[in-house]
Amino acid sequence: MQEIITLTGIDPELEIQTSKVTSSVRELLQKHLNILYPLKSTIKQYATIITGHEIAEQTRLSLPDLLKQFPVKDAKMFEEVIKILTAQAPRLYSVSSAPGSHGVNEIHITVSKDEFYVEDEKRTGVSSEYFSTKPVGTEFEFFIQKQKHFRLPTEDKDVIMIGPGTGIAPFRSFIAERDAQAASGRNWLFFGEQHFVTDFLYQTELQDYLQTGALANLDVAFSRDQKEKVYVQHRMKEKGAELYEWLQNGAYMYISGKREPTSKDVEKMLVDIFKEHGNKSEEEAEKYLHQLVEEGRWEKDVY
Ligand SMILES: Cc1cc2nc3c(=O)[nH]c(=O)nc-3n(C[C@H](O)[C@H](O)[C@H](O)COP(=O)(O)OP(=O)(O)OC[C@H]3O[C@@H](n4cnc5c(N)ncnc54)[C@H](O)[C@@H]3O)c2cc1C
Repeated sequence: MQEIITLTGIDPELEIQTSKVTSSVRELLQKHLNILYPLKSTIKQYATIITGHEIAEQTRLSLPDLLKQFPVKDAKMFEEVIKILTAQAPRLYSVSSAPGSHGVNEIHITVSKDEFYVEDEKRTGVSSEYFSTKPVGTEFEFFIQKQKHFRLPTEDKDVIMIGPGTGIAPFRSFIAERDAQAASGRNWLFFGEQHFVTDFLYQTELQDYLQTGALANLDVAFSRDQKEKVYVQHRMKEKGAELYEWLQNGAYMYISGKREPTSKDVEKMLVDIFKEHGNKSEEEAEKYLHQLVEEGRWEKDVY
């Protein structure tokens, strides 16, 4: 934020009215506006309506980078820029706790730090960086977004959960809730990450669940611990016969985590499993998967 103020010479205490909120420049930049990754449409407006710079259509830069490469004339011009910035979008996180197990006054989330490169410079995502740097006790605003479909079935049904990476979050909640309910249905978790030593999220908790029987099966894949990359879908293939049997028995199956590449690869593998263990053609296997969706027995929460 300080960088933006220095680059533009704007008074940080100046009150500005944007489409959603009226506040000081400091507050707007700190809390309300999307300054780290403005939309392409915002950059287009910045170029054509306000500054007159020629900026290639595909360009997406953080506001500080934009101001460095395509400067505003003065603080007054930057006031206009502030008015076209869109609001900071909320980030969604799956709840990874369960009231029955962790109490009604706690909500846990499982956040992975988003790191990426912009022209060889390492950057971090706004929200995940925020969580990783704030001390215990920091207060922040949040809201709850209800999920209509991604829910546990009745306690007697078996549940298969595929949760690579932070995809484990809702399943930590599911398993804890089923444990608290002493559910008679069985629970099976597939978890995947890069390295066993550093990335096995909730390892001891899951091992305890395995011991107590709250988890009937736990299959893990650590992709970078050996030469050959091994992912959750490979573990599913190894257990294909059992997995198909659970589904034939009425199990509910869920996947959570990154959409690409996991979710697509898992669906491909499921079709292969149905072909092999259900003795089905490609078309029949796809139909079987579709039928699971129709019955609410194949639910996805991917991002
Ligand atoms: C339903 C749902 C559930 C989710 N559950 C979880 C969960 O349980 N745990 C979890 O960790 N996450 C979860 N997510 C993802 C989470 O909401 C955030 O998207 C994630 O934490 C990244 O947010 P961020 O603010 O850290 O990154 P952002 O700042 O939003 O950046 C996101 C991406 O934008 C790009 N980017 C940003 N700035 C620039 C730039 N200047 N130049 C180039 N590229 C840029 C990068 O590709 C970066 O990876 C979930 C998402 C959804 C929709």
